[in-house]
Amino acid sequence: MTELTLRHTPADRLPEAEREAILADPGFGKRFTDHMVSIVWTHDRGWHDAELVPYGPIPIDPASSVLHYGQEIFEGLKAYRHPNGEVVTFRPEENARRLNASARRLALPELPEELFVRAIDELVRLDAAWVPGGAEQSLYLRPFMIADESFLGVRAAERARFLVIASPAGPYFTGGVKPVSIWLSQELARAGHGGTGAAKCGGNYAASLLPTRVAQEHGCAQVLFTDSNTADTIDELGGMNLFLVRSDGTLITPELNGNILAGITRDSLIRLAADRGLATEERAVTVTEWREGAADGTITEAFACGTAAVITPISRLLGEDGTLVDFGDRAPGALTVSLRDELTGIQFGTVPDRHGWVHRV
Ligand code: PMP
Repeated sequence: MTELTLRHTPADRLPEAEREAILADPGFGKRFTDHMVSIVWTHDRGWHDAELVPYGPIPIDPASSVLHYGQEIFEGLKAYRHPNGEVVTFRPEENARRLNASARRLALPELPEELFVRAIDELVRLDAAWVPGGAEQSLYLRPFMIADESFLGVRAAERARFLVIASPAGPYFTGGVKPVSIWLSQELARAGHGGTGAAKCGGNYAASLLPTRVAQEHGCAQVLFTDSNTADTIDELGGMNLFLVRSDGTLITPELNGNILAGITRDSLIRLAADRGLATEERAVTVTEWREGAADGTITEAFACGTAAVITPISRLLGEDGTLVDFGDRAPGALTVSLRDELTGIQFGTVPDRHGWVHRV
């Protein structure tokens, strides 16, 4: 196959002073860089019209399949500025692979992994001035694919578009890493067996919004979903994977059972723990096990993990029956903190990258 080159249409750049003001306090997901990637796919021609264009609204026909049947997938990764000024991303080929796994489930076309990584590299290079350099700041990258065929029939669309937008992001925790309370959702589920739980598709997140609102009404930062059949077996949080830590340092995390997203942070942490001689049990994990283990001291720490916050320590698990787990002053635990420091150190270039995870753009 001949390599698809990305045509560049330069944008009118935001004046430097305005950009610097945004980078001083970027928040999350509110402001976007000067350019974006757009690549078109049609059933008859495959991928074509690969472009880097000025960031802005995209024309969309009201009959586009994505607007009616939610045929959409996305990814999330970050670009980091190293102390020597170099800009890197973290394991982008894993995001490319996961996008294609999601594409298969949502009957969308797969994108060559090489093109995914190259498109991101070119966008980050072009908008490198938008990669902030402050503590735990990064450029959040959002690749996504939508079905934009104008047709109301319910079938896989014959036209799609892949886009990448980029948004400067501040530290997830301002003023130090803080443990959070999470809400156990046993009535409302995000995924069911044979469904789309393992895909990163918009519909899963739409299904998590109401339970997340319930969680927030109970003072919780995130919602924890359980298997829709048992209501005791833990799946994952709305946007993060879950780990428990046993008193002997063993990590425990729900296995990739087809209902949960295969987090790249999850995978990285399992490997970093293994480097330290710590085993990870990937298996069915229950709320009962967590509650009893926290009460008798065999489960000593819990954390959530994902690209956005890296690791979020969990201090309490609340549910309809009240407080199920309360680590109180013991959170964040020592292993939670040291794994977080190691992984962020690799990403930000202050800890050696033994695994070759860092990708120079
Ligand atoms: N689970 C869900 C449902 C998520 O949305 C995410 C964020 N992508 C994760 C887990 C963590 O994945 P990653 O570590 O690749 O960011």
